[in-house]
Amino acid sequence: MRKAKCRRCDKMAVWLYMPGPLGTEYCDDHVPRGCSCNLVPPSGFELPDEGDWDSSDWIEDTDEQGKLLPCCEYMYDEEGLDIEDEDLEKWGEYDHLDE
Ligand SMILES: [Zn+2]
Repeated sequence: MRKAKCRRCDKMAVWLYMPGPLGTEYCDDHVPRGCSCNLVPPSGFELPDEGDWDSSDWIEDTDEQGKLLPCCEYMYDEEGLDIEDEDLEKWGEYDHLDE
């Protein structure tokens, strides 16, 4: 068992894009951040009982450090991402494609 490495540096990867292929592993510094799926109403916003509302002034949610969140399809695991030995062959392929 090994831990996946970030695709942009040598740190341990803690983010993985779930719908994607292998090759989308990132550390906390390099994961792409900011996505419309994280839009939240500004504080004090009240949904009207009926009809449409304007979401154009909604803001993107942030983490405790004030950083934008990755797309909700990114999975986070602070322990790192385990790689099974059987995945290593596939990893080789994806590594090659990335070069
Ligand atoms: Zn990194």
